[in-house]
Amino acid sequence: MSHDDRLPHLLGMTSAELMGLAESFGQPAFRGRQIADWLYKRSAHTVDEMTDLPSSFRDTLRDACILRRHEIVSRDISSDHTTKFLLALEDRNTVESVLLPYADRVSVCLSTQVGCAMACAFCATAVGGLVRDLRAGEIVDQALTLQSESPGRITHVVYMGMGEPLLNYDNVVRSIHLLNEEVGIGQRHMTISTVGIVPRILQLADEGLQVTLAISLHAPNDTLRKTLMPAASTSTVRSLVQACRAYAEKTHRRVTFEYLLIRDVNDSQEHARELASLLKGLLCNVNLIPYNEVESLGFKRPGRDSIQSFRAVLEGEGTAVTQRMERGHSISAACGQLRRRSETP
Ligand code: SF4
Repeated sequence: MSHDDRLPHLLGMTSAELMGLAESFGQPAFRGRQIADWLYKRSAHTVDEMTDLPSSFRDTLRDACILRRHEIVSRDISSDHTTKFLLALEDRNTVESVLLPYADRVSVCLSTQVGCAMACAFCATAVGGLVRDLRAGEIVDQALTLQSESPGRITHVVYMGMGEPLLNYDNVVRSIHLLNEEVGIGQRHMTISTVGIVPRILQLADEGLQVTLAISLHAPNDTLRKTLMPAASTSTVRSLVQACRAYAEKTHRRVTFEYLLIRDVNDSQEHARELASLLKGLLCNVNLIPYNEVESLGFKRPGRDSIQSFRAVLEGEGTAVTQRMERGHSISAACGQLRRRSETP
């Protein structure tokens, strides 16, 4: 551990914590608010930019705290302006984040871990395994960095990039508070996408948050889910749906079930019927995502007709269905489709 590792990171602290920090250095509390403003509203990259702080206090902060921001390594722009960014962290690991501008809103897809331990068979991120959790400040930094590249204000956040958010629970919950209270993005405009860690879903239901829960289900029964998502299948699909029921009852939020449609794997009409029966009576909708093919993994995208018949069966059974817009298709900007690049820039 270097000397630096023991110093507090400014990005990741709340206004209240920064006020306490200012006071601990003999400064009035309002200086902490000024720092928060520089970090979260003005996206400062260095303490030197915080020109309304006394220069002696800036010197103290520079010596006693860390402020490091992500570096943009590359931008991959799709024809619909969806842009995938590769960002370098301070330890030179990299994560991907995606900026999705729509006519009426701007959404960002954030990573929560470097790599992922869940080993889903269809996923590009899974290939390298888990490297480490991101700190809350590193999650928020992705949004701040993409904001500086966005023509419009970011209004929506999806935790759907690399990693399993509920396995980095404390940092993810802290980042929700920071993005909401410090950056100003509404909680109802945030979505956590998870493979479904049952005890953490129940814990999240008790946090008093208003975020949307999205479950990467991808299979309507345990046998098939085990082959696609071995690490996620420690809970049965029934216990997972039960936990979602508890989440919906406590938060009054509709739960989304993500269903990646993979040709000849989980896209039959029988699968659709099984899925509809599993979700009966739950406040939810199913988001169908036609698979984006990843060369080395061998899975295929279904044809248009089988996507339509899958959807028709669900709707016929009374299940609410949405279909993910084909945005960013050319750059694989979709759940479980972000690739960890191990090469350092
Ligand atoms: S799909 Fe999501 S949970 Fe599964 S390995 Fe990929 S990043 Fe992890």
